[in-house]
Amino acid sequence: MSDFAGALKSAEDHPDYRLAVIGVPFDEKSSFRRGAAGGPAAIRAASTGKCYNPCTELGVDLETDTVLVDLGDVDASGDVDKTFMRTEQAVARILGKKAVPIVLGGDHSITLHAVRAMAGRFPDLDVLHFDAHPDLYTDLYGDRLSHACPMMRIMEEGLAKTLVQAGIRAASNDQRANAAKAGVRMIEMKDIRETPALEFRNPLYVSFDLDALDPAFAPGVSHLEPGGLSVRQAVAIIQALKARIVGFDIVELNAARDPSGITAAAAFKLLKELAGRVVRP
Ligand code: MN
Ligand code: MN
Repeated sequence: MSDFAGALKSAEDHPDYRLAVIGVPFDEKSSFRRGAAGGPAAIRAASTGKCYNPCTELGVDLETDTVLVDLGDVDASGDVDKTFMRTEQAVARILGKKAVPIVLGGDHSITLHAVRAMAGRFPDLDVLHFDAHPDLYTDLYGDRLSHACPMMRIMEEGLAKTLVQAGIRAASNDQRANAAKAGVRMIEMKDIRETPALEFRNPLYVSFDLDALDPAFAPGVSHLEPGGLSVRQAVAIIQALKARIVGFDIVELNAARDPSGITAAAAFKLLKELAGRVVRP
């Protein structure tokens, strides 16, 4: 039983909810280590047990200022295509209720399928992507649906008007070429001196791969890439955003590598601050 710092309400009692969490316990498209399938359960557990209050740093009370529900996990027990289809359908159902989906991964491959649903509802969609990696490979070891490829597919399919990436520090030269070709704006760690002030004209989907954070703050990921964002920097970017956030995901939490729970705590912090910006843009 999770409670999201006391903010969680029941979907039966509140059918016209504003924010809805779904989990996708899936990591079959992880190219290196498995473990992200445990992400949704770990984030729910971290959010629960009277450790946190439901207020964001900017003063949004997620218990009283909005209605947050948890619709549970997408069934990821069968074949991969079915899991992806169910993910897309679950996001579409939330959007059909005019609510904002919060997707907990799972490896990053699921984002393509969430964004397909988002673009179905918002034909002019912008995407802000936090990650150490651009995830712009044309394919990885022949797999075009790998967790290293979702942003390339999103751009090829025309699902995003603009894609801005923050926290990048592991771009290969072929991914740089793909970024240039697709018109992706990459904000690399080597160039970050102060908090980037980001403004989006269209409805915004935020995809947060937890390895965007420095491993010192978030060791519970499958790919440790030093030199990343502090939690403070990531929260500052979110707080400075000028955008209408219409959905977001938090992916790649590998709970098996997070014995202290520090990464799950960071994930929940990001969830709160992003949800707060949905409530108060
Ligand atoms: Mn990623
Ligand atoms: Mn990554």
